[in-house]
Amino acid sequence: MRAQRFVTTAREALERLRAGNRRFVASIGDHLTSTPTIRRIDLQTQQQPFAIVLGCSDSRVPAEIVFDQGLGDLFVIRVAGNIVAPSQIGSIEFAAARFETRLVVVLGHSQCGAVAATLEELRIPTESQSRNMRAIVDRVRPAVEGLLRTDLAKKPDALMKEAVRANIRASVDQLRHGSDILEQLIRDEGLAIVGAEYSLETGVVEFFDRTAAFS
Ligand SMILES: [Zn+2]
Repeated sequence: MRAQRFVTTAREALERLRAGNRRFVASIGDHLTSTPTIRRIDLQTQQQPFAIVLGCSDSRVPAEIVFDQGLGDLFVIRVAGNIVAPSQIGSIEFAAARFETRLVVVLGHSQCGAVAATLEELRIPTESQSRNMRAIVDRVRPAVEGLLRTDLAKKPDALMKEAVRANIRASVDQLRHGSDILEQLIRDEGLAIVGAEYSLETGVVEFFDRTAAFS
């Protein structure tokens, strides 16, 4: 029997993620019991993830766990610093077009090492960094370098906090405006792209500019 196909709207997808993160926060310290193996049978030949997550590779922020989701629920792209390069855009275009997934979340997190490394590099440039790691820093840099010219430059903790958020917003902007396919899906099909920050300290995911994304 073929499963009934219906599209989860961006708003419904966001509610599922918010509810999942509430379960995760409530269960910190317990063992999560999601991902029933029985679903694997349904997923052998098809998938219909209800949200796409562009997250950081940091081992402490696995999207499926922090949103308490199982097999087949999330289409996840992870890269240090949740940066946007062509392969990330391509992956998101693929999922949004192929699976009719209507929500994209850029999930950054507190104390992101890629953001910290970029701030460090801006302060004390090094020659020794590998070309490949530099490619990541170079993608974070435009979002955060302006902050070093503000009062935040003297407050390391506040600077780091704001830099993480600025980097998430920059990735959201690039996804909203860097792809004809995504622009068309936003305009005609109700695709929403939102930023969110995971707190390593509390486990809570805070979503940004929620209303703007749905206007
Ligand atoms: Zn990170």
